Amino acid sequence: MIAGLAEESRFDFAGDVGGYGGQEDADPSKVGALVWGTRYDRCSLGSTNRRSEGSRWLDSALGGSLCRTSTPTGKPVCLFKTLYTNACFHECRYCSNASNCKSRSRTFTYSPQELAKITMDLYRGNYTRGLFLSSGMGKNEDATMEDMIETVRLLRERYHFRGYVHLKILPGSSKDHIIQAMELADRVSVNLEAASRSHMDELCPTKDYERDILARQRYIRDLSQKVNLPGGQTTQLVVGATVESDNEVFKRALYEYDVMRLRRVYYSVFRPLKGTAFEGRGRQPSWRGRRLYQVDWLYRVYNLDEAEVENAFDENGFLPNQDPKVTIAREVLDLPVDPNTASFEELIRVPGIGPKSARRITTSRRKVKIGKKSELRALGVRTDRAEPFLMINGWRSTTLDRWLS
Ligand code: SF4
Repeated sequence: MIAGLAEESRFDFAGDVGGYGGQEDADPSKVGALVWGTRYDRCSLGSTNRRSEGSRWLDSALGGSLCRTSTPTGKPVCLFKTLYTNACFHECRYCSNASNCKSRSRTFTYSPQELAKITMDLYRGNYTRGLFLSSGMGKNEDATMEDMIETVRLLRERYHFRGYVHLKILPGSSKDHIIQAMELADRVSVNLEAASRSHMDELCPTKDYERDILARQRYIRDLSQKVNLPGGQTTQLVVGATVESDNEVFKRALYEYDVMRLRRVYYSVFRPLKGTAFEGRGRQPSWRGRRLYQVDWLYRVYNLDEAEVENAFDENGFLPNQDPKVTIAREVLDLPVDPNTASFEELIRVPGIGPKSARRITTSRRKVKIGKKSELRALGVRTDRAEPFLMINGWRSTTLDRWLS
């Protein structure tokens, strides 16, 4: 299996793809619809407007939008992000692919051969370095999962594709399919969508939160001990489609990190879509997702503990639209922090100081004492944000401006 190769070698060009003959006959409306169908699937830093010079069908199908993300080693890559099919038997009340959506558009489905060839065309043309493959359930999850796996198998075995593959595991997938998917992909994910069983019941009456989703995440976690999955397992939550608080979402994310050992949790803020059962519900502001990513980051990267991060939420469990690190610092930093004596853990709690700049401060001060704002700036500190929380040589923020230059 290819997952055993070193990360770098997996991004080499495939070289001879043996008999592959180009895709000028691909159907742009099908590719366009299935690419568009992934617009709420989060895996990424955003999208890019890179044009596929010389391939009109690609420009027409993709609308110049490919997905940027990073590999497990942090290397940025551009992915071809698509659904396998936009047909689905589930009844998720926020989704325009749901079988009960009144304005459901025409359904499309690739064949494994077709999708593998399109992916190779993009890869060989150097437009993308990998595939993000999600899907509706089609008529049943087993048949659709089988086809998605077959697509990746063709890529890996027939075309010797060494690009990155993020493969969605459909809710309710069999253990056998999960093993096969993990052997072929770099990263897998099951979309959690809701923060709890009761919210899932409201979002989608046809999915069983425990059996279809959590049990599948547990399989993946346990199988990860035996199968090499370099990108690990991730998930995604829809935020604000029901009345769950940000704190409920955050607590679910902690469970996913600590118990399910997920690599990342992604948040997608709810947008009502025409024809869906939730079309009358309020659109959530994009800053809600941004604030959730910030508390997630404080927990996951800064290693702040749960009780500390809880300070960022208001009495109703929601995050106000302000930097949670500042809110937490106001609660936990009783005294201003002296960059010449503070520990690494104290430094990273100061807004404007991240792990990198905290490390530079602790290294630099061994040689020479920090005495000026400009010296902190040179070490990567955002002094405009850090200043109210700092004290240098006995000077605090009210007079710091005068003293430091
Ligand atoms: S499972 Fe739900 S969210 Fe996914 S495509 Fe089907 S209806 Fe949409």
